[in-house]
Amino acid sequence: MSAPVAHDAACIFCKIIKGEIPSFKLIETKYSFSFLDIQPTAEAHALVIPKFHGAKLHNVPDEYLADILPVTKKLAQATGLAIDSPEGVGYNVLQNNGRIAHQIVDHVHFHLIPKRDEKTGLVVGWPSVETDFDKLGQLHKELLAKIEAHQ
Ligand code: 5GP
Ligand code: ZN
Repeated sequence: MSAPVAHDAACIFCKIIKGEIPSFKLIETKYSFSFLDIQPTAEAHALVIPKFHGAKLHNVPDEYLADILPVTKKLAQATGLAIDSPEGVGYNVLQNNGRIAHQIVDHVHFHLIPKRDEKTGLVVGWPSVETDFDKLGQLHKELLAKIEAHQ
């Protein structure tokens, strides 16, 4: 089995990490790089990416993933989003995997999207079904068996 590849010369986000393409850089650590999204849905919409080329979340080593949320938290705090009330400004952290799940750039990225009003930021909607405890119980059993087998 070949070793995971940390960089992809054709990847736009790898080029941003290397400085081959300019970006409005915010925070950089050993494992992560963050910068402003060039097509923001809200002011200060930022992206936090691992300094490791992986298309989807499961392609990225844990040490890179473990650094992403602390960086995201720091950005939220520094940009005035971290208020200790359920009311007022909020924010969403979004990470898409695959075209059907709205991923366009195939290098893992976490969106930090300020939610200040109804018009800007993430709009969330998903279909849901009525609670069915029998069905959930059966599914739970199946999933636990799969998780056990995966260890
Ligand atoms: P996705 O739909 O893949 O989760 O989101 C990709 C995001 O990357 C989009 O919000 C898009 O605006 C952003 N993006 C794409 N290309 C560039 C770029 O060259 N520079 C920056 N800063 N953001 C980019
Ligand atoms: Zn990449």
